[in-house]
Amino acid sequence: MSLVLEIPSLPSAAVAGTDARFPVGRIFCVGRNYAAHAAEMGQTEREAPFFFTKFPQALVPGGGTIPYPPATSNFHYEGELVIAVGKAGAKLDPKNALDVVFGYACGLDLTRRDLQFSARDKGRPWDMGKNFANAAPLGTIRPAKQGHFERGAITLTVDGETKQEGNIADMIWSCAEILAHLSTLDRLLPGDLVYTGTPAGVAPVTPGNVIEVTVDGLEPLRVTIGERDPAFA
Ligand code: MN
Repeated sequence: MSLVLEIPSLPSAAVAGTDARFPVGRIFCVGRNYAAHAAEMGQTEREAPFFFTKFPQALVPGGGTIPYPPATSNFHYEGELVIAVGKAGAKLDPKNALDVVFGYACGLDLTRRDLQFSARDKGRPWDMGKNFANAAPLGTIRPAKQGHFERGAITLTVDGETKQEGNIADMIWSCAEILAHLSTLDRLLPGDLVYTGTPAGVAPVTPGNVIEVTVDGLEPLRVTIGERDPAFA
């Protein structure tokens, strides 16, 4: 088969302990998975987990410097634990849902909050607030054979100052429950990433800021916010 043009191949992420990389297919994200963050987003009741998606092309493997994105003046960090899925699975039981996990990494669900909220307030899709170039930085994946994450500190700093401090144990829906729920909506596939939600303390960043996400037991993820892409100036 020949193609009429070439497009970049899908991205991949580093895996601790090997030169082989994790190929990234789909990116799912959980909304409002820590009670204090749900409250700061205006939610008052416990709800079933809900999901949105990002293109794999939004991945920023290993972090680094990314341009400040177009069409926003309220660009927010959300530090998150990310699940990398290694096996297919549908209608998983929470008791064995973690069997499909390949590993875990630190991630950032970067958000154009102004676009997200204007869409939300009109009952429109969030996509342009959540899914855009460089919106999904991801750190090195630690294989699940070294253990799963039911608890442990998750922290985000900006220029060394702590902005988010949570614990994986405080997630409303655990990793196993997230995977079980998501796998009732669509079959999980090898290469899927699941961003599991962010603790309270989200806020904007500007060019020059350095964001660092740490989860106990994982390699930290560092992202520097650069200037706007001149094409959008
Ligand atoms: Mn998020």
